[in-house]
Amino acid sequence: MDKRQILSKFSADPEKYYKVKLFEEQGFQRKSCATCGRFFWTMDSKRSNCPKDSEDTYSFIGNPPTKKRFDYTQAWKEVESFFVKNGHTSVSRYPVVCRWRDDLYFTIASVVDFQRVMGSKVVFEFPANPLVVPQMCLRFKDLENVGVTGRHFSSFCMIGQLSIPNSQGYWKDECIDLDFRLLTDQFGINKNEIVFVEDVWEGGGSFGSSLEYYVRGLELGNAVFTEFQGELGNHTTLDQKVIDMGAGLERFAWITMGTPTAYDCCFGPITKNLIKKVGIDIDTELLSKYFVEIAKNQGRFSNLLEVKEHAIKNVGLSPQQVTKIINPLEGIYLIADHLRTLIFAISDGALPSNVGGGYNLRIVLRRIIGTMQRLGLKLDLNEMIDWHIDYLKKTYPELKEKRDDVKTIIEVEAKRYEESKIRMQKIADNLKSKGQTPNVDDLIRMYESDGITPDYLKELEVIPEIPSTFYSRLSDLHQSVTKKEKEKLPLQNISETDLLYYKEDPHQFDAKVLKAFDKFVVLDRTSFYARGGGQEPDHGKIAGFDVVDVEKHGNIVVHELKGGMPKEGETVSCVVDSQRRDGITKNHTSTHILNSSSRNVLGSWVWQNSAFKEEDHARLDITHHSALTEKQIKEIEKLANSIVQKNLPVKIENFDRGTAEQKYGFRIYQGGVVPVKSVRIVSIKDFDVEACGGTHVKKTREIELIKITRTKRIQDGVVRIEFVSGKTAQDYVKQHENEQEKMREEKDAKEEKDKLREERKEQTREKIPLLLEQISQSPIGTSKVDEIEIHTTEAGRFCYSTSDQYDEYFHINFGEKLIKNDPKASYCGIFDAGSTVRAIIYSGEQSKNKNAGAIAKAISEIFGGSGGGNTRFAQGGGKDKSKKDEAIKKAKSMVLE
Ligand SMILES: [Zn+2]
Ligand SMILES: [Zn+2]
Repeated sequence: MDKRQILSKFSADPEKYYKVKLFEEQGFQRKSCATCGRFFWTMDSKRSNCPKDSEDTYSFIGNPPTKKRFDYTQAWKEVESFFVKNGHTSVSRYPVVCRWRDDLYFTIASVVDFQRVMGSKVVFEFPANPLVVPQMCLRFKDLENVGVTGRHFSSFCMIGQLSIPNSQGYWKDECIDLDFRLLTDQFGINKNEIVFVEDVWEGGGSFGSSLEYYVRGLELGNAVFTEFQGELGNHTTLDQKVIDMGAGLERFAWITMGTPTAYDCCFGPITKNLIKKVGIDIDTELLSKYFVEIAKNQGRFSNLLEVKEHAIKNVGLSPQQVTKIINPLEGIYLIADHLRTLIFAISDGALPSNVGGGYNLRIVLRRIIGTMQRLGLKLDLNEMIDWHIDYLKKTYPELKEKRDDVKTIIEVEAKRYEESKIRMQKIADNLKSKGQTPNVDDLIRMYESDGITPDYLKELEVIPEIPSTFYSRLSDLHQSVTKKEKEKLPLQNISETDLLYYKEDPHQFDAKVLKAFDKFVVLDRTSFYARGGGQEPDHGKIAGFDVVDVEKHGNIVVHELKGGMPKEGETVSCVVDSQRRDGITKNHTSTHILNSSSRNVLGSWVWQNSAFKEEDHARLDITHHSALTEKQIKEIEKLANSIVQKNLPVKIENFDRGTAEQKYGFRIYQGGVVPVKSVRIVSIKDFDVEACGGTHVKKTREIELIKITRTKRIQDGVVRIEFVSGKTAQDYVKQHENEQEKMREEKDAKEEKDKLREERKEQTREKIPLLLEQISQSPIGTSKVDEIEIHTTEAGRFCYSTSDQYDEYFHINFGEKLIKNDPKASYCGIFDAGSTVRAIIYSGEQSKNKNAGAIAKAISEIFGGSGGGNTRFAQGGGKDKSKKDEAIKKAKSMVLE
């Protein structure tokens, strides 16, 4: 639908769409802007232009229109007390990570808090009516503006004033009256300063008029009256009309403070602390002039750089003032903004990564670090986190509890960035040497594949500027989730299946065949669990045929059969494979336990990313920044099994969705969004509470045992835990124990062998002196001592042994000592080594031959191998074990003849 069309239609009938009671009571005049033609309402008879085209635009900078001054947290207290005084309920903020909508990663507006998806429709669920909420919102489209324009933030608080016009709520007249009094009575803004501009809103198939309210060119809020649905001209009035007034808290603070930028009054003491730390010489008057120029001229130039150049020229800033004041100041603003965004996102369970919404978080952290390095700012991230949280806790006390977790994640992520820099530097150098300037597509690809931020490339002067479309393009790519469509089956006019597995859950039952086509069967009732929530389907038999798959299409369960088909209209007997179901159920319940165990052991950022539960194995993917250590795995397993042992009841209750959210918080959406009004809450005491449609054990001890079999970091920010439970876990442990037992036995046997060998060595070593003694006394001729043959002649002595009681170790020890003891002696030790025969030769200094090497060579030839060494010691050998006698004969002849 065309917004302009709706606007022109509505503005053609202002009495019907825009004129509220207040305008009449206070004497507002409706005017058309002399410059752009837009219609607006004002009490100032002299005003002829709309706020955007007025002379007084941004004149509040340096000269605020109020006597009272409210910083960020004070401004909220003023807004809150005003609305509470006027019958509104003040609701705590919702998480910035939008767990209740599967089309959004982050909460982008206050109204999103109360939107729920029902099938394909968006419905409203209000915890109170009317209400007001200080909703933090994250938007990453304008990142390049943050810190520069004075008013763009990556996270901001959108005050939400919401009302459904019924007996408690109100409609246009009261809404505009309240907003007017908020500005005048509560904030002390002069009536003449307030301008309401006519506009329209459309989205999600519905639309309505809206009134934006401005003070001195600054849009403070926009009251949207969602009233119609359908195409313009062919539209109908909604059953549930809604007022969604969204206002920027940052702007409320800014207009009362009149600081050069909104950043100066919205981060508490942080900007001041940083300016002091960095040592910037601030000239407030000069900065006020500069930022008024920036604010007024945005939109008049094609890019921000031109706006800046224009402002610098108009204010007359010297290049030195730009480098010494403007640049570092922009950096400080950026750092303060981006860090606040990370604090909220991490507190609410998001992790920087290269997937999904994590992309945006990674990029803002890299921008913080990049800015610090570019400007040479020595800042302590932890200290800045403390400053932020200590300031914000007045409005958002929940941040205190997450202080350490935020620090942990930022530290891990900052370290990762430093580590990746070497690789990034290489790629950047490569680009530079080729003289290439990457375009937006290249930059997006480089960021996605290598994590290289354009800020970093700018720092290295690979690109002159970050293309203005980069961040919005990236944000579009990673803002919403795409859904997979299920195959369409011919299921028209078939009634919903009665789901027995949520009731008595009989594993044998009769049912009527409502439809049979291809290999698919639809029954009027079923106990076969359909694949869903990561739980695999039941198997079994329908009319004697095998059930191989079960899927849910809407509220109809479709069974896939193999081997044959029953007829439509027939009543069939059905049997669910109980053993399979039992295994799956135990694994499924274990997933809940392991998920909460992981969060307890690792940190609050752990969420279920996905899960898969089969009969004999299962896996749980959790969000976590690093691979798990052995110690962490042990701890998770230990905690999980302690829950099993405690035999806690697993309670199942059905709640209205809104009630469940209020009672348990958004932690219940571990398995994703629940697209129905009534949610099934599965709780294991307060250890784990989740919205879940799967099958669970009744008490935890039924699980028997949970055993983690493997963990793996499967993608950035996601760790997979593979596990088994129940009998499979027992079997796994047994098998594991058997393997361990076998390994232990093998180890023992080896140790025993080693020990024996050592003992033998010891014995033979002890034997040597005695042997030497006996040999030295042996007479001329041949003799034998302990398997050592001795041939003694006048010329010398030749000793040898081929006994298998001696090993290499003995031969070396003995030969060495023998020739030392008797320089005229020679020794030849022959022994088997596996499939070969080996020889150790020693020749004494005064022996006849005096050439151990030659002997080794000669006898090795006999053995069919080779050998060698020096005159004193040599070794050799070969394959032919049968030639031992021949070899000895040869050696003997060489020594004695
Ligand atoms: Zn205008
Ligand atoms: Zn479950």
